[in-house]
Amino acid sequence: MTNMKKCPSCGRYTLKDYCPECDSKTVNAHPPSYSPQDRYGKYRRKEKFGSS
Ligand SMILES: [Zn+2]
Repeated sequence: MTNMKKCPSCGRYTLKDYCPECDSKTVNAHPPSYSPQDRYGKYRRKEKFGSS
């Protein structure tokens, strides 16, 4: 894997600086200072806990 980028608008992965789908500026697919997966984990745990 090289410099994979991701479009924040449509979520498409690309190697280009601009999304081929919607022409938005793409961001690094794995930003070092921000981990959305962690937040999702918290949300999912809370959701699961509340519904069960
Ligand atoms: Zn896009």
